[in-house]
Amino acid sequence: TDPNELVRNAIRSVPDWPKEGVTFRDITPVLQDPRSFRALIDIFVYRYMRQRMDLVAGVDARGFIIGSVLAYELNLGFVPVRKSGKLPFNTVAEEYKLEYGNASVEMHTDAVLPGQRVLLVDDLIATGGTMVAASRLLQRLGANVVEAAAIIDLPDLGGSRLIRESGLPVFTVCKF
Ligand code: 5GP
Repeated sequence: TDPNELVRNAIRSVPDWPKEGVTFRDITPVLQDPRSFRALIDIFVYRYMRQRMDLVAGVDARGFIIGSVLAYELNLGFVPVRKSGKLPFNTVAEEYKLEYGNASVEMHTDAVLPGQRVLLVDDLIATGGTMVAASRLLQRLGANVVEAAAIIDLPDLGGSRLIRESGLPVFTVCKF
């Protein structure tokens, strides 16, 4: 079977979570099944194995799971893009808007060297706010962000379009 379909079929849709009217796309079953987990990572490996890259940056927290495995397979380093207040060393932060209030992402100031080519990874793109903030943060550190990669795109929310319009290419495995 088609690896993208294998991954898509393993995603669990949970109605009314975290609140009424929202359907949460749960990737834990994809990770739990070794065939869909391997299919998922292989899709990313085949896309990026021939591209010159230095680092994978994974977004807190589900971006860590796929990002670290992908970095290992591609023989690249891994750096975390964390929620605020988690990193021990000198940090830079980038704020972004949520539905209610603000949030921010943080990285260590020495996480990337100027000019390094970075692949940005998260599990899902909704409004695109998280990816855009993470990408800005990486660029402030001098990174060359090559692409934003995610398992799931929710195209109706316009996030992937917003990211592309900001000049960053987007790759996703499936859409809901
Ligand atoms: P955005 O910033 O694009 O609006 O939201 C994307 C972020 O929220 C990602 O870090 C993602 O992990 C999380 N997120 C929002 N909705 C969902 C969902 O339905 N499923 C999963 N797995 N993550 C979600």
